[in-house]
Amino acid sequence: MQVPVKSFMSGDPVWITADASVLEAFECMLDRGIRHLPVLDGERRVVGVLSIDDLRAALPYSPALKQPLAPGEREVAREWQVGEIMSHDPVTLGPDATLAEAAARMAERRIGCLAIVDETGRLAGLLSETDVLWAVATAPALRSAAAPGSAPEVLAALVRELTQERERVRTRLAKNLAAEKSLETDLREVPLDEAERGADATLMQETIALDELALRRLAAIDQALDRAAQGQLGSCTRCGNAIPIPRLRALPATTLCIACARSDPGTRRP
Ligand SMILES: [Zn+2]
Repeated sequence: MQVPVKSFMSGDPVWITADASVLEAFECMLDRGIRHLPVLDGERRVVGVLSIDDLRAALPYSPALKQPLAPGEREVAREWQVGEIMSHDPVTLGPDATLAEAAARMAERRIGCLAIVDETGRLAGLLSETDVLWAVATAPALRSAAAPGSAPEVLAALVRELTQERERVRTRLAKNLAAEKSLETDLREVPLDEAERGADATLMQETIALDELALRRLAAIDQALDRAAQGQLGSCTRCGNAIPIPRLRALPATTLCIACARSDPGTRRP
Protein backbone atom coordinates (compact mmCIF):
# COMPACT_ATOMS: atom_id res chain seq x y z
CA MET A 1 0.00 0.00 0.00
CA GLN A 2 3.09 2.23 -0.09
CA VAL A 3 2.86 2.23 -3.87
CA PRO A 4 2.26 5.73 -5.31
CA VAL A 5 -1.17 6.34 -6.80
CA LYS A 6 0.40 7.35 -10.12
CA SER A 7 1.23 3.68 -10.79
CA PHE A 8 -2.44 2.74 -10.73
CA MET A 9 -4.43 5.81 -11.75
CA SER A 10 -5.82 6.14 -15.23
CA GLY A 11 -3.66 8.85 -16.74
CA ASP A 12 -5.18 11.23 -19.26
CA PRO A 13 -8.79 10.51 -18.24
CA VAL A 14 -11.80 11.86 -20.12
CA TRP A 15 -13.09 15.10 -18.60
CA ILE A 16 -15.78 17.68 -19.11
CA THR A 17 -16.37 21.38 -18.40
CA ALA A 18 -18.89 22.84 -15.93
CA ASP A 19 -20.88 24.55 -18.70
CA ALA A 20 -21.39 21.34 -20.69
CA SER A 21 -24.88 19.89 -20.58
CA VAL A 22 -25.70 16.91 -18.40
CA LEU A 23 -26.78 15.12 -21.59
CA GLU A 24 -23.27 15.51 -22.99
CA ALA A 25 -21.78 14.24 -19.73
CA PHE A 26 -24.08 11.23 -19.64
CA GLU A 27 -23.31 10.29 -23.23
CA CYS A 28 -19.64 10.49 -22.48
CA MET A 29 -20.06 8.12 -19.51
CA LEU A 30 -22.25 5.78 -21.55
CA ASP A 31 -19.77 5.64 -24.46
CA ARG A 32 -16.87 4.72 -22.25
CA GLY A 33 -18.65 2.86 -19.50
CA ILE A 34 -17.28 5.15 -16.78
CA ARG A 35 -19.00 6.27 -13.58
CA HIS A 36 -17.04 9.47 -12.89
CA LEU A 37 -16.00 12.49 -14.90
CA PRO A 38 -13.59 15.12 -13.60
CA VAL A 39 -14.83 18.66 -14.30
CA LEU A 40 -12.11 21.07 -15.42
CA ASP A 41 -11.92 24.83 -15.89
CA GLY A 42 -10.30 26.55 -18.88
CA GLU A 43 -6.84 25.98 -17.41
CA ARG A 44 -7.32 22.25 -16.86
CA ARG A 45 -7.73 22.74 -13.12
CA VAL A 46 -10.09 20.38 -11.34
CA VAL A 47 -13.20 22.24 -10.12
CA GLY A 48 -15.48 19.27 -9.50
CA VAL A 49 -16.32 15.66 -10.11
CA LEU A 50 -19.52 14.41 -11.69
CA SER A 51 -20.59 10.87 -10.88
CA ILE A 52 -23.41 8.76 -12.25
CA ASP A 53 -24.85 8.99 -8.72
CA ASP A 54 -24.95 12.81 -9.01
CA LEU A 55 -26.93 12.35 -12.22
CA ARG A 56 -29.28 9.92 -10.54
CA ALA A 57 -29.82 12.30 -7.63
CA ALA A 58 -30.57 15.28 -9.87
CA LEU A 59 -32.59 13.83 -12.72
CA PRO A 60 -36.24 12.83 -12.37
CA TYR A 61 -35.33 9.36 -13.73
CA SER A 62 -32.49 6.97 -13.04
CA PRO A 63 -30.12 6.72 -16.02
CA ALA A 64 -28.38 3.35 -16.49
CA LEU A 65 -24.85 3.16 -17.86
CA LYS A 66 -25.84 0.48 -20.34
CA GLN A 67 -28.75 2.12 -22.03
CA PRO A 68 -29.18 5.31 -24.07
CA LEU A 69 -31.77 7.81 -22.85
CA ALA A 70 -35.29 7.98 -24.29
CA PRO A 71 -36.02 11.15 -26.32
CA GLY A 72 -37.97 12.80 -23.46
CA GLU A 73 -35.18 11.99 -21.00
CA ARG A 74 -32.61 13.49 -23.35
CA GLU A 75 -34.55 16.77 -23.38
CA VAL A 76 -34.52 16.94 -19.58
CA ALA A 77 -30.79 16.15 -19.38
CA ARG A 78 -30.06 18.83 -21.98
CA GLU A 79 -31.59 21.50 -19.71
CA TRP A 80 -29.12 20.89 -16.88
CA GLN A 81 -25.50 22.01 -16.77
CA VAL A 82 -22.75 19.87 -15.29
CA GLY A 83 -21.81 22.71 -12.89
CA GLU A 84 -25.29 22.64 -11.35
CA ILE A 85 -25.17 19.05 -10.19
CA MET A 86 -21.47 18.09 -9.87
CA SER A 87 -19.78 17.64 -6.49
CA HIS A 88 -17.86 20.86 -5.87
CA ASP A 89 -14.62 21.06 -3.92
CA PRO A 90 -13.57 17.55 -4.98
CA VAL A 91 -11.12 15.50 -2.96
CA THR A 92 -7.77 15.48 -4.73
CA LEU A 93 -4.37 13.93 -4.09
CA GLY A 94 -0.93 14.36 -5.62
CA PRO A 95 0.50 11.63 -7.90
CA ASP A 96 3.04 10.60 -5.25
CA ALA A 97 0.49 10.03 -2.50
CA THR A 98 0.36 6.39 -1.45
CA LEU A 99 -2.47 3.98 -2.15
CA ALA A 100 -3.03 3.74 1.60
CA GLU A 101 -3.67 7.50 1.75
CA ALA A 102 -5.98 7.27 -1.24
CA ALA A 103 -7.95 4.39 0.28
CA ALA A 104 -8.26 6.25 3.60
CA ARG A 105 -9.44 9.42 1.86
CA MET A 106 -12.05 7.51 -0.14
CA ALA A 107 -13.36 5.77 2.95
CA GLU A 108 -13.39 8.99 5.00
CA ARG A 109 -15.30 10.97 2.42
CA ARG A 110 -17.35 8.01 1.18
CA ILE A 111 -16.42 8.56 -2.45
CA GLY A 112 -15.66 6.10 -5.21
CA CYS A 113 -13.10 8.15 -7.07
CA LEU A 114 -10.27 10.65 -6.50
CA ALA A 115 -8.91 13.24 -8.91
CA ILE A 116 -5.11 13.15 -8.97
CA VAL A 117 -3.65 16.61 -9.58
CA ASP A 118 -0.16 17.98 -10.13
CA GLU A 119 1.33 20.76 -7.99
CA THR A 120 -0.51 23.43 -10.00
CA GLY A 121 -3.90 21.78 -9.42
CA ARG A 122 -4.14 20.50 -12.98
CA LEU A 123 -5.58 17.07 -13.66
CA ALA A 124 -2.98 14.29 -13.85
CA GLY A 125 -5.25 11.25 -13.57
CA LEU A 126 -8.20 9.60 -11.93
CA LEU A 127 -8.12 6.87 -9.30
CA SER A 128 -11.22 4.75 -8.74
CA GLU A 129 -12.07 2.22 -6.03
CA THR A 130 -11.58 -0.52 -8.59
CA ASP A 131 -8.06 0.80 -9.28
CA VAL A 132 -7.27 0.58 -5.57
CA LEU A 133 -8.53 -2.99 -5.22
CA TRP A 134 -6.66 -4.01 -8.33
CA ALA A 135 -3.50 -2.45 -6.91
CA VAL A 136 -3.87 -4.40 -3.67
CA ALA A 137 -4.26 -7.60 -5.64
CA THR A 138 -1.31 -7.08 -7.98
CA ALA A 139 1.21 -4.86 -6.18
CA PRO A 140 3.52 -7.78 -5.22
CA ALA A 141 3.70 -8.85 -8.86
CA LEU A 142 4.82 -5.38 -9.89
CA ARG A 143 7.57 -4.97 -7.34
CA SER A 144 9.88 -7.38 -9.06
CA ALA A 145 10.68 -7.28 -12.73
CA ALA A 146 9.71 -10.14 -15.00
CA ALA A 147 12.23 -12.97 -15.12
CA PRO A 148 12.99 -14.74 -18.41
CA GLY A 149 12.96 -18.53 -17.93
CA SER A 150 11.99 -20.73 -15.06
CA ALA A 151 15.35 -22.20 -14.12
CA PRO A 152 15.49 -23.77 -10.65
CA GLU A 153 17.12 -20.71 -9.08
CA VAL A 154 14.42 -18.48 -10.56
CA LEU A 155 11.73 -20.74 -9.11
CA ALA A 156 13.53 -20.75 -5.77
CA ALA A 157 13.53 -16.95 -5.81
CA LEU A 158 9.81 -16.97 -6.57
CA VAL A 159 9.15 -19.32 -3.67
CA ARG A 160 11.10 -17.01 -1.34
CA GLU A 161 9.17 -14.05 -2.65
CA LEU A 162 5.82 -15.78 -2.18
CA THR A 163 6.76 -16.91 1.34
CA GLN A 164 7.62 -13.33 2.28
CA GLU A 165 4.45 -12.07 0.68
CA ARG A 166 2.43 -14.59 2.67
CA GLU A 167 3.89 -13.20 5.90
CA ARG A 168 3.11 -9.63 4.87
CA VAL A 169 -0.45 -10.44 3.86
CA ARG A 170 -1.02 -12.37 7.09
CA THR A 171 0.28 -9.51 9.23
CA ARG A 172 -1.87 -7.01 7.38
CA LEU A 173 -4.90 -9.23 7.67
CA ALA A 174 -4.40 -9.64 11.43
CA LYS A 175 -4.14 -5.85 11.79
CA ASN A 176 -7.29 -5.34 9.75
CA LEU A 177 -9.19 -7.87 11.79
CA ALA A 178 -8.15 -6.11 15.02
CA ALA A 179 -9.20 -2.75 13.58
CA GLU A 180 -12.54 -4.18 12.48
CA LYS A 181 -13.14 -5.55 15.93
CA SER A 182 -12.60 -2.18 17.61
CA LEU A 183 -14.76 -0.49 14.98
CA GLU A 184 -17.47 -3.02 15.68
CA THR A 185 -17.27 -2.27 19.39
CA ASP A 186 -17.49 1.46 18.63
CA LEU A 187 -20.54 0.94 16.50
CA ARG A 188 -22.18 -0.97 19.32
CA GLU A 189 -21.16 1.00 22.37
CA VAL A 190 -20.18 4.55 21.51
CA PRO A 191 -23.08 6.92 20.87
CA LEU A 192 -22.48 8.13 17.30
CA ASP A 193 -24.60 10.34 15.15
CA GLU A 194 -26.03 9.07 11.87
CA ALA A 195 -23.18 10.45 9.71
CA GLU A 196 -20.43 8.98 11.89
CA ARG A 197 -22.18 5.66 12.00
CA GLY A 198 -22.49 5.70 8.19
CA ALA A 199 -18.82 6.57 7.72
CA ASP A 200 -17.76 3.78 10.08
CA ALA A 201 -19.99 1.28 8.32
CA THR A 202 -18.50 2.27 4.95
CA LEU A 203 -14.97 1.95 6.27
CA MET A 204 -15.90 -1.46 7.63
CA GLN A 205 -17.27 -2.62 4.27
CA GLU A 206 -14.16 -1.45 2.47
CA THR A 207 -11.87 -3.18 4.94
CA ILE A 208 -13.85 -6.36 4.54
CA ALA A 209 -13.57 -6.15 0.75
CA LEU A 210 -9.79 -5.78 1.07
CA ASP A 211 -9.70 -8.72 3.51
CA GLU A 212 -11.47 -10.92 0.99
CA LEU A 213 -8.88 -10.09 -1.65
CA ALA A 214 -6.11 -10.79 0.85
CA LEU A 215 -7.63 -14.16 1.78
CA ARG A 216 -7.93 -15.18 -1.85
CA ARG A 217 -4.33 -14.20 -2.45
CA LEU A 218 -3.21 -16.16 0.61
CA ALA A 219 -5.03 -19.28 -0.58
CA ALA A 220 -3.38 -18.98 -4.00
CA ILE A 221 0.07 -18.55 -2.43
CA ASP A 222 -0.47 -21.60 -0.20
CA GLN A 223 -1.34 -23.70 -3.24
CA ALA A 224 1.79 -22.51 -5.04
CA LEU A 225 3.98 -23.32 -2.03
CA ASP A 226 2.41 -26.79 -1.81
CA ARG A 227 3.20 -27.38 -5.45
CA ALA A 228 6.74 -26.12 -4.92
CA ALA A 229 7.17 -28.56 -2.03
CA GLN A 230 6.18 -31.36 -4.42
CA GLY A 231 8.55 -30.09 -7.09
CA GLN A 232 5.69 -29.27 -9.43
CA LEU A 233 5.63 -25.49 -9.31
CA GLY A 234 6.15 -23.82 -12.66
CA SER A 235 5.31 -26.64 -15.04
CA CYS A 236 2.01 -26.93 -16.84
CA THR A 237 0.02 -29.98 -15.72
CA ARG A 238 -1.37 -30.41 -19.22
CA CYS A 239 1.56 -29.98 -21.63
CA GLY A 240 4.52 -29.98 -19.25
CA ASN A 241 5.90 -26.70 -20.58
CA ALA A 242 7.22 -24.01 -18.25
CA ILE A 243 4.68 -21.53 -16.90
CA PRO A 244 6.22 -18.06 -17.21
CA ILE A 245 7.25 -16.50 -13.87
CA PRO A 246 5.19 -13.30 -14.34
CA ARG A 247 2.10 -15.49 -14.78
CA LEU A 248 2.97 -17.41 -11.60
CA ARG A 249 3.42 -14.16 -9.71
CA ALA A 250 0.06 -12.85 -10.80
CA LEU A 251 -1.76 -16.18 -10.38
CA PRO A 252 0.33 -18.29 -7.99
CA ALA A 253 -2.24 -21.11 -7.94
CA THR A 254 -2.29 -21.59 -11.69
CA THR A 255 -1.42 -25.07 -12.95
CA LEU A 256 -1.68 -24.31 -16.66
CA CYS A 257 0.47 -22.39 -19.10
CA ILE A 258 -1.22 -19.57 -20.99
CA ALA A 259 -1.74 -21.64 -24.16
CA CYS A 260 -3.39 -24.52 -22.26
CA ALA A 261 -5.50 -22.15 -20.16
CA ARG A 262 -6.69 -20.44 -23.34
CA SER A 263 -7.46 -23.64 -25.20
CA ASP A 264 -9.67 -24.78 -22.34
CA PRO A 265 -12.10 -22.01 -21.47
CA GLY A 266 -14.25 -24.57 -19.62
CA THR A 267 -11.59 -24.92 -16.93
CA ARG A 268 -12.07 -22.55 -14.05
CA ARG A 269 -9.31 -20.02 -13.69
CA PRO A 270 -6.51 -20.38 -12.95
ZN1 LIG B 1 0.40 -26.11 -21.11
